[in-house]
Amino acid sequence: MTAATASAFLDRLREIVGEDGLLYDPAELLVYECDGYVVEKKTPDVVVFPTTTEQVVKIVQTCNEHDVPFVPRGAGTSLAGGCLPIGGGVMIALTRMNKILEVNLRDRYAVVEPGVVNVHLTRHLAGTGFHYAPDPSSQGACTIGGNVATNSGGPHTLKYGVTVNHVLGIEFVQPDGTLTEIGGIVDEPGAYDLTGLFVGSEGTFGVCTKVIVRLTRDPVAYRTMLGVFETVADATHAISDIIGAGIIPAALEMMDQGIITALEDAFHFGFPLDAGAVLLIEVDGLEVSVDREAREIIELCNGRNAREVRTADTPEKRQLLWKCRKQAFGAIGRLSPSYCTQDGVVPRTKLPEILAAITESGNRHGIRVVNVFHAGDGNIHPILLFDERDQDQIRRVMLASDEILSKCIELGGSVTGEHGIGVEKINFMSQLFTEDDLAVMDDVRKAFNPDGRCSPQKMLPTAGACGMEHHAPIEKSHPTRRAAM
Ligand SMILES: Cc1cc2nc3c(=O)[nH]c(=O)nc-3n(C[C@H](O)[C@H](O)[C@H](O)COP(=O)(O)OP(=O)(O)OC[C@H]3O[C@@H](n4cnc5c(N)ncnc54)[C@H](O)[C@@H]3O)c2cc1C
Repeated sequence: MTAATASAFLDRLREIVGEDGLLYDPAELLVYECDGYVVEKKTPDVVVFPTTTEQVVKIVQTCNEHDVPFVPRGAGTSLAGGCLPIGGGVMIALTRMNKILEVNLRDRYAVVEPGVVNVHLTRHLAGTGFHYAPDPSSQGACTIGGNVATNSGGPHTLKYGVTVNHVLGIEFVQPDGTLTEIGGIVDEPGAYDLTGLFVGSEGTFGVCTKVIVRLTRDPVAYRTMLGVFETVADATHAISDIIGAGIIPAALEMMDQGIITALEDAFHFGFPLDAGAVLLIEVDGLEVSVDREAREIIELCNGRNAREVRTADTPEKRQLLWKCRKQAFGAIGRLSPSYCTQDGVVPRTKLPEILAAITESGNRHGIRVVNVFHAGDGNIHPILLFDERDQDQIRRVMLASDEILSKCIELGGSVTGEHGIGVEKINFMSQLFTEDDLAVMDDVRKAFNPDGRCSPQKMLPTAGACGMEHHAPIEKSHPTRRAAM
């Protein structure tokens, strides 16, 4: 693209969204140079903030006319670099499309725009007797569109499932600008499950502009417990015992000593600072069943040398426990200037093994690692603490991360439990899948996104076509850079 065409392109975007809906000043673009994965950075040439589906259609059509790549973005909380605008181009930020369009309690669904913040839907539904079940720990910031694109999980995934289990239908703008609806308000569309296919496609199939979500009835009763253990191994064995006893808690979260210390500094909950690990365990359902399950859980924890199992005996104490868990990542800011949250999954019984491997890898590379994760799912989130101003620390973080994820594969697991592949884990795809598998996936992507113009070079190592720096930047943009490298 020549400078003149670039300027015509910018004018066209301005016509669509207005000056207020555009960012192209290099200083302002810095905010968009990365998401929650801070290791790789690249600014887009322009960020657009549409407020309607029609605007998204026109933006995508304009990108096609000018052969410019584009990438959708919600709140930018992705921890795998899903929002990195490789190849520059346009970032379509959906945060201004944040209306809850309809709530239908009789048929148990809600229709929302993609930029609705997850917790805003929860708050909107409070008191109705229903809720939207997927609740990532980032729910105070992340958007429903981002949740759909990454098939988000969260603490309640163990019992209630991931996002794909709660999405009935999707409206999206295909990479060629066609507006399409898949799924609908009834459960069984009677054709290929394209909704299921779109969920988790990480923005490579198009831009989601509307979502029909399933609503779940609130449970009658909860029991929320905090099991305190001397060692991480005792805590992980207790997890297997609980699931092995046939109990499926609504949530089963583990936090190790490093996290406990950071949380205690932040919230003064009264966590025991000398404990090796704590389990946050919640059961929900009918009054009689939650009491019975809670009793069994306490016994099982005691059988694994729990120092104590506290029960949150008031709604306020339950809220505080959940606040601690959901803000655990924020509290880590107290421990180090930067951190890299890894995401892998192993069969639940392999948790003691993977946790030992994480500690060993961290020690070998001189990187402090703390752990907070959805243990009930076998989903691990080792958090590697470092300072991004120190190149050698970054190198060692990358080495330890690679080892940990390779170990997940070796133990029969995978390199993403819930955060997706993004750009971060693309190199692992050929360890996980055969060439034939990857070729099939590439064919599926090409069916939606034949030119690769939408979210180039994400998810699949085969990502070809567009996405290269073949167009002139709109204005002088921030150079491609890896953090501190
Ligand atoms: C503190 C913290 C805790 C977290 N906890 C969890 C957790 O418990 N469970 C979990 O699963 N994840 C968790 N995450 C990761 C992240 O929050 C989720 O992946 C979330 O779904 C991303 O939503 P977002 O709106 O920020 O999307 P973004 O980060 O903006 O985008 C993520 C991906 O979705 C694509 N995308 C965004 N919007 C659209 C759209 N409208 N149409 C098409 N593609 C789109 C982007 O291109 C990108 O590939 C956590 C992150 C942080 C920082």
